[in-house]
Amino acid sequence: MNIALIAHDTKKELMVQFCIAYCGILSKHRLCATGTTGKMVAEATGLSIQRYLSGSQGGDQQIAARISCNEIDLLLFFRDPISAKPHEPNQANLMRLCDVHNIPVATNIATAEALIHSLERGDLDWRDIVNPTRTR
Ligand code: PGA
Repeated sequence: MNIALIAHDTKKELMVQFCIAYCGILSKHRLCATGTTGKMVAEATGLSIQRYLSGSQGGDQQIAARISCNEIDLLLFFRDPISAKPHEPNQANLMRLCDVHNIPVATNIATAEALIHSLERGDLDWRDIVNPTRTR
């Protein structure tokens, strides 16, 4: 599966801890992330992560483009629900595209844990069945 990671600044450490905890599961999948999130997770875990631009520079839109092409199977997007971000409209579009393409998405660690266990159990394998030929 192709998994995308994004974390707002106040949630980056949480994302790092999450990825350390589930490193064994995540290592079986292809990972991509916005710039700083990817850098921090890669440094902390040693996981191989395709890094896009920083979110504020358009990295979230690069991930949105991959979602539009049905190339992302799961999005873990740890959002800061308190402070507004200048690139919030882009990120609202990212969430919209997840709904358009039926991409499982977690915006907090509780849902992320539920999804990562689903992933490990194979509950998300239907994505491979629905889209057997999609670009990997
Ligand atoms: P970043 O982008 O991982 O490059 O910080 C995420 C964000 O939109 O804040």
